[in-house]
Amino acid sequence: MLTDIRSQDAGELKAQFEQWGLPAYRVDQLLTWLYPHRVTSWEQMSNLPKALRARLAEHYALNNLFLVRKQGSRDTTRKYLWRLVDGAMIESVLIPANPGLYGEASDRHTLCVSTQVGCAYGCRFCASGLDGWKRNLGVEEIVGQVLAVEREEETVDEADAAAGSAGIVESAPVAVALAERVVSNLVIMGMGEPLANYQNLLKALKILNASWGGGIGARKITISTSGLVPQIRQLADEPHQFRLAISLHGATDEVRNRIMPVNRKYPLKDLEEACAYYRQKQDRMMTFEYTLIEGVNDALDQVPALARLARRLRAKVNLIPYNRVEGLPWTRPSDSAQEAFLAALEKQGVSCTLRREKGHDIDAACGQLRLRTERESRDAGEGQD
Ligand code: SF4
Repeated sequence: MLTDIRSQDAGELKAQFEQWGLPAYRVDQLLTWLYPHRVTSWEQMSNLPKALRARLAEHYALNNLFLVRKQGSRDTTRKYLWRLVDGAMIESVLIPANPGLYGEASDRHTLCVSTQVGCAYGCRFCASGLDGWKRNLGVEEIVGQVLAVEREEETVDEADAAAGSAGIVESAPVAVALAERVVSNLVIMGMGEPLANYQNLLKALKILNASWGGGIGARKITISTSGLVPQIRQLADEPHQFRLAISLHGATDEVRNRIMPVNRKYPLKDLEEACAYYRQKQDRMMTFEYTLIEGVNDALDQVPALARLARRLRAKVNLIPYNRVEGLPWTRPSDSAQEAFLAALEKQGVSCTLRREKGHDIDAACGQLRLRTERESRDAGEGQD
């Protein structure tokens, strides 16, 4: 199998071009086609000689993500379901900074990307792990989500018309002339445990951060983890200044053990020490993601433990009301219970927010669109036999 060209950094491409006896400016031209222009084929690289394009095609793959389905509309949260070259499916979610509440266009967008097909970590409330883990994403498949979403956003109106009300589009990738930056922030919180695919993720983020690549500032990139202690320590020692978010969802071992199997391997005490190490090495604000689930972690007796952790690590807490996942028994607490949890936390001097926007409902149920689509096509296949 050929190496995908979007898995290569500028240094690797320069070394290859040098070996071919080609001048360095040809690499700059190639990178301009791949990133600002986000092309989908070699033929579109019109200022590269034909012979070089043929040589590139012989040496590298240029695989694109194929859009299967999308939900949402312009200036609300948009969820994309992609098919990869081996047929596996993943999701990405685009969240506008201002979700069009007053009818104006939003100029800043955060993209939530996936890092694995499925997930092995089996958090009890999550759809992504329901069918288990299939594989890690390659560097180019992580980078490719940003490029593909930006291409789609450029052509969004025609795509919406083609999709109709069902949100099913099944469209081949189309390159755009270029080049408005659509994605300004990245959160690595989609399907999969990001730090379980450490090497590919870090390389992809370096490409997305590079001025010759995605051009997204390191401080605008947040990596989330359910609590992989060794990798948090490894990340603390990286020179890049990516942000860290811990998917905490419980402030005691009792609660975390109940809903997050990872806590049995890396209990809170170890997680806290790894976060303290990260804090000391990177000295930047980290975030605790805390999904409020009725009867599981929304009792006020969690607040003192959560507040102690947040104060020690100078972490901000994001409270997220749970979004129901088909087939799972959990529900979100009432609005008044959510507000009471927030108020109790604030009273303890913790910086925290409660997500209230209705437009974000589809993002917390990450993994559901893939699950439903895969099950539908399995059922359809069975029906045809
Ligand atoms: S919450 Fe994250 S780590 Fe846990 S099962 Fe879902 S995708 Fe995996």
